[in-house]
Parts: sequence; structure tokens; C-alpha cells
Amino acid sequence: MKQVVGVYTGSADILQQQWKAVEYLKDEIGLNLIILGMGPAGDRWSPSPEVAAKAPFKLSVSQEKDGLNDFLAQAHRRDLDVWICISLYAEMDSGPNYADLMFRDLEGNVFSPVSQYGSGWAWSWCPSKESIRAYNEALLYDLAKRYDVDGFTLTHQRYSPIGHNISNLFGCGCNECEREASKLGYDFGSMRNSMLGLLRKLKKIDRNKLSVMTELSPGFLDFFYYLGADQGLLDWLNFRCDLIQSGMKRYYEAARRARDNLAVGSDNFPASFSMISGHRYRDFEDNADFLSPLLSHIVIFCLFNFMELATKIKEWNQGISEEQVLQCTYRAFGYDKFNLPSTLSALLEHPRLPSSDYSETKLPLGEIVGDEILKAKSFVSGKKPMYGIFAAHSKLNPVDVEKRALGMKRANVDGIILQVGPLPGPIDNIAAIKRVFHR
Ligand SMILES: [Zn+2]
Repeated sequence: MKQVVGVYTGSADILQQQWKAVEYLKDEIGLNLIILGMGPAGDRWSPSPEVAAKAPFKLSVSQEKDGLNDFLAQAHRRDLDVWICISLYAEMDSGPNYADLMFRDLEGNVFSPVSQYGSGWAWSWCPSKESIRAYNEALLYDLAKRYDVDGFTLTHQRYSPIGHNISNLFGCGCNECEREASKLGYDFGSMRNSMLGLLRKLKKIDRNKLSVMTELSPGFLDFFYYLGADQGLLDWLNFRCDLIQSGMKRYYEAARRARDNLAVGSDNFPASFSMISGHRYRDFEDNADFLSPLLSHIVIFCLFNFMELATKIKEWNQGISEEQVLQCTYRAFGYDKFNLPSTLSALLEHPRLPSSDYSETKLPLGEIVGDEILKAKSFVSGKKPMYGIFAAHSKLNPVDVEKRALGMKRANVDGIILQVGPLPGPIDNIAAIKRVFHR
């Protein structure tokens, strides 16, 4: 199997001017895949007018020739595959403009995604909406028929992380989700009661018992037993994974119906938090041609979660210390081994955390990336290839990039996908990747 070396970049028009940078990456690190980003509403290229008419949100369809097929022909002449990356539900900037599509909590409320430390871009759409699902299916079929692309990778095909707002775990609670739950064999009313009960318990934590628990280093289930969660919690986590997967299956089949020579998949939430974000890794082996753990945003996807939990639990419960909550939750998610700070102010480091991976931090992000990719590999049977996504942009120095690359190599991944910023990315960081993989 060929080792994939991919890079994310902007639209084809921009790339037309970038062949020199692409050739450089090809020579240095064996680049063989370009992934063009695309919002839900299209890019320089758009769905056909018939498909655009199905979109449940505003689309601006360009009438001009987009040049994408010309670009694809040039890429293929250079032995490069091209995928399109499409955003689906979580973190939609335009979320608040579409009340009918919005993600709702278990009492039906729309809530602001901006947590005290969050990055504030986490409005979500509900993953059940038939109007969005039917449009996504039609979009993939249409793009696959009209453009000679080699694949699609879906993104934001999940629930938003609890780091943006803890309510992201307690939803979506809309009527359509309730109907979907029933179709998938779950009792929505019972799960709603369980989860609202858990929320009440989180607001009434016994300080003395928490002290004892902190001493005992509780695992994930210990932590939830301690809180008094019942079976509904596990049903809820499984239901959310099943729901995301039922969408994945539809999109996968739609794209493959158009053409069977496509690679179709999705990025995957970091393994430690995947179950609470709607991703059960093994399911993707049935409904995708590859897996690609998204490890370029460790601060947002993992560390914000601890910060939001500590902030909310402290706010809800007088006298509970953030040290206790942080220690308990680090342990519950397997992060105690990283010796992370015991206070929010030390975790915060800067008045406003950057929204992505960066070198300035004292936090061991490189080690976390290395462990998350190993965990991801252990979560699957291995029947589909896995490509690890990591950052190598200008906010990272070569030492930190090398750490991430070594982590990927240790996990024996089938390929890597880079986020480098403007192509070709920082030369020293590219050299660090070359050193690791050509050693
Ligand atoms: Zn919903």
C-alpha cells in the first residue's frame, strides 16, 4: 500500500500559482495528495444549480467557469491525488442564522458556544436534520460526477467538543433527533432523563467525597459512578455515535454510487474524547475508505475540555477546587501521565489561548499527539488505512514538528496529512519531517 503524504490547502485558483511549492513538497517529503478545503456552501466551485436548490442554507453559486477540472488534470499529470474536504455540522459560523437547523440542548434551547476559555466558533447544526443530510448526499454525488477528484474527506462530521460549552454533551435534543433515536432503537425520553439527572448531579457535587476520589485516581467509569450516572449515559454516548455513523454511511454510499474509484472518509476526533464527540473508531472502518485522526488542534479538542469541566463544576459547586476537578478529569481521560498543570491559570498560559497547536506553550502537546495516534491505532482492527493529521505551520518550531512526526512513525501509520499554512509551509519544519521519515 502506498504511504500517503497529504497537505491541506485553499481553493484551486490559489493553487494554480503554487506548482513550484507543490513540486518542492513532492521532492522533499514525497507529497502525493492535495486536499482542497470547502465550506458547506461551496467554494470557487459549487454544486450544480439543481443540487444547490436543495440546500437548506444560503448558497452563492458562481456562474463562471471554476477551472477545477483543469487543475485536477494538471495535478494528475504530476502524480498527485486531489480530495475535497467538506464541512458538515459542528462549528458552523453561520449557525445562528438558521434557527431550524440549530443544535439544541436537552430542553430545546439554543445556547451560545462561547465558553470562558473557548475559542468561540462552535455554533453547531443538528446532525439529524433530513434537509442537511439529503443535501450532503446530493452534493457528494454531484461533485463526484462532475469533477475528476480522487476522494472526499468530511470534516466537522461530529458533535462540537465540550470544551466550547459543556452543553455540547447534553444535546442535540430536538424533535428530529428524538425520532432518529427511536429509529436506531433507543429510548430518547429515558436517555434525556438520565442525562438531565447527570447534569443535576454535576451541579451538586459532594466536596468531601471528591477529595477522597481525587486521592484514589478514578478511571472514566469510576468518575461517572461517583457522579451517579446510570445506564442512560452509555446509551446516550452510543446513540450519538450511531447517529453520526448513520450519516457517514449515507454520504459514503452516495459518493461511491457516483463512482467507485474514490477514497471517501472523514477526519476523526482524538481517540481519548472520541466517544463523547460521536466517533466510535471501528465504525469508520465499515463506512469509510480510510481513517484520519485530527491531531492538529490538541488545545481545542482536548485541553479546553478539562478547562470547561473545571470552570463549570467550580461555578456550580461552592468550595470545590479546580485542582481536584482537574486531577480527577485528567485521570478519567488518561491524561494524568502528562503532568498537566493543576490550576486553570497555569493551563491558560495566555490571556486567550491560541486556537491551535503552537510551540510557545509549556504544555506537552507533541507527547499528547504521539499518544493519541497510538491510541487511535489500538481502537481499530486495521482493515482500513490510517493517516494521522498534524500541524507543521509557522506557529510550530522544527523540534515540535519532529516530535509529532516521530509519534506518527512510532504508531506506524499508513500516511500523514499536514496542516502547514500557506504552501509550502515553513522550510525548517518540512526538513524536520523529511529527517524523520527518510532516516
Ligand atoms: Zn437535533
